[in-house]
Amino acid sequence: MAAFVCVTCGTQFAPSPQPPPGCPICLDERQYVGHDGQSWTTVAELGSGHTNRIEEVEPGLLGIGTEPRFGIGQRALHVHGLLWDCVTLIDADTEAAVRAAGGIHTIAISHPHYYSAMVEWAERLDARVLVHEADREHVMRPDARVEHWSGERLDLGDGLELHRLGGHFEGGTVCLWRGGAGGRGALLSGDIVQVVSDRDWVSFMYSYPNLIPLPAAEIRRIRGRIEELDFDRVYGAWWPAVVAADGRAKVLRSADRYLRALGES
Ligand SMILES: [Zn+2]
Ligand SMILES: [Zn+2]
Repeated sequence: MAAFVCVTCGTQFAPSPQPPPGCPICLDERQYVGHDGQSWTTVAELGSGHTNRIEEVEPGLLGIGTEPRFGIGQRALHVHGLLWDCVTLIDADTEAAVRAAGGIHTIAISHPHYYSAMVEWAERLDARVLVHEADREHVMRPDARVEHWSGERLDLGDGLELHRLGGHFEGGTVCLWRGGAGGRGALLSGDIVQVVSDRDWVSFMYSYPNLIPLPAAEIRRIRGRIEELDFDRVYGAWWPAVVAADGRAKVLRSADRYLRALGES
């Protein structure tokens, strides 16, 4: 049996004799079904035309992204044995490069759009997977390696902490890396705090492809959580999505701008 992968969002499903009837991640109003209809691939098939680019983005932090672009096009991050977010492709070259960088003990994922092939990565690299329990229903390949954490904060050691901010997804999580940005702190933010085209700003949406905003009360709540965190840099979900410096102030002023746009300041 094959573990089918949705081509539009890159999510891998539990092994089945036939492809699943549809992809609930894409059918959700936060995503969309590919314009040519639902289509499926597998990790092995993906590997015949794609490779992973693996590159240091700052000392101690590796980026891992698939080329040519596949699915949502995100790049994962690797720091202190943690894989933050994930990509669908895992091949022998990637496995060797990640092992050479110290391996992976934990895979933590910001939200369901980046669950991708997290279970296959976990099996090949002998890791556990942490996803917030509020998003349990979105796990398409349940597995004993997937641990559902609860609450608002989880300390992972090595100066790494998960914080559930919600918003885009109820279990939406960011990772604070205290040692990042030369010790000033880096926020690994996925789509939960979205670094936008003007990289001095961020935004927060319920759906990015379908442009559905979040209510003012959610923005205020998320702003309050950000105020408790110390960081200078923000790494969003794509290679160029980086707020290089003064990130905390820029996230806070972005929340204020959002509230003004909603007539709520
Ligand atoms: Zn999908
Ligand atoms: Zn997303």
